[in-house]
Amino acid sequence: MNQRKHIIVIGAGAAGMIAAGEAARRGARVTLLEKNNKTGVKILMSGGTRCNITHDTDARGITEVFGHARRFLQPSVGRFSPTDVVQMFNKLGVATKIESTGKVFPESNRAVEVRDALHQDMIQAGVDLRLNCGVTDLRIAESGSGETNHWEVVTETETLACDVVIVTAGGQSWPGCGTTGDAYAWLRKLGHKIVQTRPALVPLVGGTDWMRALSGITLDDCVATVRTKTNTGEIQTGKKAVLIQRRSSLLLTHFGLSGPAAMDVSGSMTAASRIDQVHLEVDVLPNESEAEVENWFTNRSGNDGRRRVSSIVAGVMPQRLADSIVAASDSDCHVSDLPAKNRRRLVSCLKRLPVPITGTRGFAKAEVTAGGVKLAEVNPSTMESRLQKNLYIAGEVLDVDGWIGGYNFQAAFSTGHAAAVAATSE
Ligand SMILES: Cc1cc2nc3c(=O)[nH]c(=O)nc-3n(C[C@H](O)[C@H](O)[C@H](O)COP(=O)(O)OP(=O)(O)OC[C@H]3O[C@@H](n4cnc5c(N)ncnc54)[C@H](O)[C@@H]3O)c2cc1C
Repeated sequence: MNQRKHIIVIGAGAAGMIAAGEAARRGARVTLLEKNNKTGVKILMSGGTRCNITHDTDARGITEVFGHARRFLQPSVGRFSPTDVVQMFNKLGVATKIESTGKVFPESNRAVEVRDALHQDMIQAGVDLRLNCGVTDLRIAESGSGETNHWEVVTETETLACDVVIVTAGGQSWPGCGTTGDAYAWLRKLGHKIVQTRPALVPLVGGTDWMRALSGITLDDCVATVRTKTNTGEIQTGKKAVLIQRRSSLLLTHFGLSGPAAMDVSGSMTAASRIDQVHLEVDVLPNESEAEVENWFTNRSGNDGRRRVSSIVAGVMPQRLADSIVAASDSDCHVSDLPAKNRRRLVSCLKRLPVPITGTRGFAKAEVTAGGVKLAEVNPSTMESRLQKNLYIAGEVLDVDGWIGGYNFQAAFSTGHAAAVAATSE
């Protein structure tokens, strides 16, 4: 390995800090450029400032939540797996814990501990960190031969030359964090295709008046399903019509829906050319079949028949939610008085509650960016561009987005690590 190889890493987030530290440890001279006045801004705010660093699963369990990017991520996540991430943090002095959901957090619940560990590790490895240093352009240096590029990285104040560039500038969600999609323009100029970007893991805007009035209520366990519609707006049924299905908790808000189930299905909704071309429904009682729920309201005689429908529904969910669903399905009566038509409507509301969605909270509130650098143009084992030698691309700037649960940091760590290993190998 060439000890004096100069690598510039652009962006000091999860992918960039791992890449910079690993490359320096492997003997390269590394400069890390970050436009913010501190490193790891998204790490600091992640997981409600607790930082869900990865998920308690194997490499396959990580990659399978990345949809079209699943195969692309297999080599890098296989080589730097959730176990490796946990071991790395433990070695750096960050004790970790696994929660019942499988999410891995620092035992301290302090995201700052995660950021500090990565920061100190790379500084100790010899990385030259330059904060308040926004990159404005990336171009091939004229001194480069036809075979192998050298690079010029243009910042607001100077132009830096180097042998290798690793782009880890993130996507364009939460732009206040510094992630304003800057790298797309440079990479486009270098020939890369940028798959249309859109918000993912984003709260959904819509719902009905009664849903918004229940703002603050959480459904601890429900299944959100997104279905396709026909051109004339009819909801399609059958397995093939299901775009995504996610079982988790869901939060009713004053603007619509939030919480893991809503956020996880949001990317499939923003992928539609218009959001009203897909249909969102929620199974509020995933442990019961439709027939079992129907049975609660049939064959009731004597005292059971005198019970109010809402009191039965309130046995399995918050009273206010039960009252609203019962009212919405016109079923507010005694069980024995419930007409079959209304009973079917009630069961349908409980098992397939339609939630009209008109939009999302946009990039401003999206935890990740879907779309980005086209994966076919990047080597999945090395993260090197297939179009430009000595250019590596890792993290969320790529066209990868996974579910809530630590998967996205894992992808950033794995791809950043792969880039550093390859960039320092001859
Ligand atoms: C509110 C919130 C909570 C989240 N919680 C979790 C969680 O708990 N678990 C999880 O797995 N994922 C979580 N995510 C997603 C996760 O933060 C990202 O997937 C991850 O940070 C991507 O890492 P990255 O290194 O590719 O990009 P980033 O972390 O976004 O880092 C990119 C860096 O590049 C810098 N940069 C950009 N442009 C330039 C430029 N022109 N010049 C210099 N520097 C530049 C940026 O300032 C930034 O520091 C959360 C996201 C948000 C917004």
